[in-house]
Amino acid sequence: MKFCSQCASAVSIRIPQGDNRERHVCDACGEIHYQNPKIVTGCIPEWQGQILLCRRGIEPRHGLWTIPAGFMENGETIEQAAMRETLEEACARVEIHGLYAVFNIPHVNQVYMIFRAQLSDGEFAPGEESLETELFDEDQIPWSEMAFPVVIQSLRRYFSDRPNNHFPPFVDTVTPIRR
Ligand SMILES: [Zn+2]
Repeated sequence: MKFCSQCASAVSIRIPQGDNRERHVCDACGEIHYQNPKIVTGCIPEWQGQILLCRRGIEPRHGLWTIPAGFMENGETIEQAAMRETLEEACARVEIHGLYAVFNIPHVNQVYMIFRAQLSDGEFAPGEESLETELFDEDQIPWSEMAFPVVIQSLRRYFSDRPNNHFPPFVDTVTPIRR
């Protein structure tokens, strides 16, 4: 951030009085521009034992498979956001069941919240941001073409919990990949 969104003056980076972190502060109008993590929410949509995946038509990870998920909008609940993302990316209506996975991703300032879900009527189609949408049996999941490690981890755990029909929610933290 270079300019204040309130008054368009240049901002500086400093620790405001009474705070303990550097912030973007406007010296003209006094506005402190806090930046906080963003929430990404999505679901594992199941239909008759199969899982609905989307092949990404946008960057990052164009052409790879993932579950429907995206950034929460203001004014939404996380469940509403997960349902909206599923409708947008897979043209599918879902009933949201329990929260299943929470991932801290501190190096990109994001939190992922993934629900379990059932398709409402079995209908789906690629949305604007998807190249393809397809239902997969467990043994057909394209593991080597998945877009995000958090999705791989969530699906593997889902399949290991499913025989017991018991899906205890879990929290994990993602660290940067070393190259
Ligand atoms: Zn200002």
